[in-house]
Amino acid sequence: MAAKNREKKRQKKTIGRDASLSLLQAYNILFARFGPQHWWPGDTPFEIMVGAVLTQNTAWTNVEKAIANLQGARALDAAVIVSASHEQLAGWLTPSGYFNIKAKRLKNFCAWYLEQGGCEALRYWPTARLRAGLLSVNGVGRETADDMLLYAFHRPVFVIDAYTRRIFSRLGLVDHDLSYEALRRYFEETLRAGTGAGRRRLVRLFNEYHALIVVLGKDVCRKRPRCGACPLAAQCSYPLES
Ligand code: SF4
Repeated sequence: MAAKNREKKRQKKTIGRDASLSLLQAYNILFARFGPQHWWPGDTPFEIMVGAVLTQNTAWTNVEKAIANLQGARALDAAVIVSASHEQLAGWLTPSGYFNIKAKRLKNFCAWYLEQGGCEALRYWPTARLRAGLLSVNGVGRETADDMLLYAFHRPVFVIDAYTRRIFSRLGLVDHDLSYEALRRYFEETLRAGTGAGRRRLVRLFNEYHALIVVLGKDVCRKRPRCGACPLAAQCSYPLES
């Protein structure tokens, strides 16, 4: 309870406040410690999108097994997925967990994807239209849609996940309770203004930054943080724990 109260006290009610640690500095520190992450694993944009649907609530190693099942059955294809029976698809997806729900979501996504003309058509859509389209699919939420936009379509969209919220609120840079859209705008606008980067450079930065956040959140800034092993500890306002 005391730890919870301490965390609440640390959560600021503003964003973009004067902070000793800028988003760009944090990125540079994380990159220097962890190096390039080479995200997102996947040979094609479609495989990346399938991975984005399957990665919800599970470890990536489980997603890899499910994708390997699809590949082994020559079913890593939107038309094959749509025409497969629910039982067959759920069987291929079993390693990814929640396979009944994920089979429905993946079918919904693939049906929409085919209706729009697949990647050949979608790659020409403006980002706002593409995002709205992805979000219209039952089972595709904001984080999944933004994973697809950034990693499959190379759009300058910052992905917000639970790790991002936890790490940057502990650093004292954002309010933990901000909406997804407010956090996304904060990261995108601050990094765009801080770097002056064009679209391609922003895509590379957002790609690497999200991957580095996941590494830190998974291995170091966990629910119970391992601050002694954290490269951001010197700049962090959270009560340090060893
Ligand atoms: S110092 Fe601790 S609380 Fe702060 S970001 Fe690092 S692991 Fe998280």
